[in-house]
Amino acid sequence: MPDQNEIDAKKDALIWAAKRSFDLRLQTTAGGNLSVRLSSADAIVIKPSGVGFNECTRDNLQIVHLDGTLEPSPFKPSKDLDFHLDLYRIRPDINAIVHCHSPWATGYASAGIEIPCLTVQTIEKIGRMPLIPLSPNGGPQTEVEISPYFKDPKVVAAVLANHGTIGVGSTLTKAQYLAEIIEETAHIAFVRDTLMAAHGRTAADLPNFGTAKDAKAASSQ
Ligand SMILES: [Zn+2]
Repeated sequence: MPDQNEIDAKKDALIWAAKRSFDLRLQTTAGGNLSVRLSSADAIVIKPSGVGFNECTRDNLQIVHLDGTLEPSPFKPSKDLDFHLDLYRIRPDINAIVHCHSPWATGYASAGIEIPCLTVQTIEKIGRMPLIPLSPNGGPQTEVEISPYFKDPKVVAAVLANHGTIGVGSTLTKAQYLAEIIEETAHIAFVRDTLMAAHGRTAADLPNFGTAKDAKAASSQ
């Protein structure tokens, strides 16, 4: 059985991240989902279906074992539960997942445009943000579509067409910050691309830069 003190601490952390996502307008209503891995058992804490990010409490968050067994709960498990469980199974380095339907990023994904990692921060923290298409039957992405992208251990963020975003991390804070960076990057990309179009600029006018490591290497030459 998972340790009760750990469960309480992880639930409180999840409530913190959910409130932050709600306050930042990354997630309204009861869509999206977030979860965190327990270290005292092969299990996670996750938001159930129908509970808003701003309404998470110690009483409604659920404990689910990695084999899919749900600890007794009056709530229905989330539609996103299976892809969360699968990501924890295939990536031992992932200890938290924040999945939001944040509007700027989801707008890009729904236009079929990959969000460019265009800022110093996105290059360093994310590097690549794959765009995952809908499932072949046109339904929402499941673990069948999502997990293959995350088999690459370098992938820490992805965007789901017509759906939302996924940020993962070794801690909940890291996963939460990625959810915020994804949305912020989409917003910045939109402003950049709108201004470029208005001013008749093309990709050839864009500044070129890499990571801080690249810059240091270049300046020491
Ligand atoms: Zn979703």
